[in-house]
Amino acid sequence: MSKNQNKTGSYSFFNCIEKNFDKAARFISIEKGLLEQIKACNSVYRMHFPVKIGKEVKVIEAYRVQHSHHKLPCKGGIRYSMKVNQDEIMTLAALMTYKCAIVDVPFGGAKGGIKIDPQTISSENIEKITRRYTSELIKKNFIGPGIDVPAPDYGTGEKEMSWIFDTFLSLRSGDVDALACVTGKPISQGGVRGRKEATGLGVFYGIRELCHVKEEMYSVGLDVGLVGKKIIIQGLGNVGYHAASFFHESGAIIIALAEREGAIYNKKGLNVSKVFLHLKNNGSILNFPEAKNIENTEKALELECDILIPAALENVIHKNNANRIKAKIIGEAANGPITPEADEILDKKGVIIVPDIYLNAGGVTVSYFEWLKNLSHVRYGRMEKKFRENVNAEFLKVIETICKKKISIEEKKMILRGPREIDLVRSGLEDTMINGFHKIRDIKKSLKIENMRTAAFVLSINKIIDSYEKLGIFP
Ligand code: NAD
Repeated sequence: MSKNQNKTGSYSFFNCIEKNFDKAARFISIEKGLLEQIKACNSVYRMHFPVKIGKEVKVIEAYRVQHSHHKLPCKGGIRYSMKVNQDEIMTLAALMTYKCAIVDVPFGGAKGGIKIDPQTISSENIEKITRRYTSELIKKNFIGPGIDVPAPDYGTGEKEMSWIFDTFLSLRSGDVDALACVTGKPISQGGVRGRKEATGLGVFYGIRELCHVKEEMYSVGLDVGLVGKKIIIQGLGNVGYHAASFFHESGAIIIALAEREGAIYNKKGLNVSKVFLHLKNNGSILNFPEAKNIENTEKALELECDILIPAALENVIHKNNANRIKAKIIGEAANGPITPEADEILDKKGVIIVPDIYLNAGGVTVSYFEWLKNLSHVRYGRMEKKFRENVNAEFLKVIETICKKKISIEEKKMILRGPREIDLVRSGLEDTMINGFHKIRDIKKSLKIENMRTAAFVLSINKIIDSYEKLGIFP
């Protein structure tokens, strides 16, 4: 039995998603075989390749899974972790399919993983492994702007995406669209402004939207709005750090942050950027001067709070700790942080769970914007920024003439400003997250579905059925 199965009881991680899928399927009337087709993983590529590390040759285990080809290219992150295994990557690929459908991103789901611990390997060797992995993908036609487009995930970031792009370009020189073979790249390598923080910002937009719905807040005994809400975040990596920063800036109170080595707690609130600086300088969040240490990091999840955001790994809330969770809302920033047994326990307790297939879709949404930018070969806002500023200036002149009043320089600056790339990316992301939330909520209400996860699956599966039908594959 794998470590995953220990925590998830009798289920593998993939079974957990199948179980969630089956709950949603009860609300969809379509032939069983067609649902099986949507559920199944289309292609699984498991590879082993040798890499010389120091004087030794190490055999590296890696995967790329394409869950669904109903839309192309496939899309999904690559993670580096010692926990990587086929079941995990298949599950994460499936989640990508459902996620893309919810936020109207026209991709099939995919995921990749390399079984290494990036914390114990030098950057030089990570580069060697990443480049070799990319060439393996190229050999089998598992990467390309119209085929399969990786992105960052747990343990990877801009640096790895740059190496992937560079390796792809060197083996496919002359491909004018090569930049679109991977997303999450640095800006200087064709990345888009706003991608790095996109998943965390999407988490923030999704939870903020929920907190503005009176009915939802009253159902768990909370006031409307985010200001003053007590939040706990697990994982201070890319997703967790940015989500924590946006919550902090909006007036919510981050009372605890949990990392691998332990957690820190201050009921009056933690200053996220100060904690991050402390982590950078000391290699640990522990012993932060304005907080109390919690040695057993898992215990942080069980503290009294309004909102709990797991943003590290899967299966962290399971049947053995679900009963002790006191949060009224759980926002799944990580993929699969709650096992099906825990889900049922929390549902019975009346906890609102905002599911991963919606809440962490900000990353793939902005990856889609980056892919479009790479294919159009032009920065967002480049064509219209000056034009918009000129039009705004004309408007302002007319208003000043009619009102016989001069507008202050500060106000002028704000009104005249044309849209920059970051403005357009963030507004596209905000709109996507707000729309996604209300579509899920509408389905939940109209079909009288018990929770947001099942409603999100119903929304997603119906959209996938629709595209299969339009392809002429389903009758
Ligand atoms: P990351 O590697 O940047 O950060 C993960 C953080 O979790 C690290 O700081 C790590 O030290 C910490 N961590 C590991 N084990 C922990 C534990 N037991 N307790 C507390 N903290 C622990 O990874 P990330 O990109 O932020 O991804 C986090 C989660 O979000 C993953 O589930 C990933 O699949 C999901 N996700 C990421 C993206 C993205 O754009 N990066 C998009 C969608 C979903």
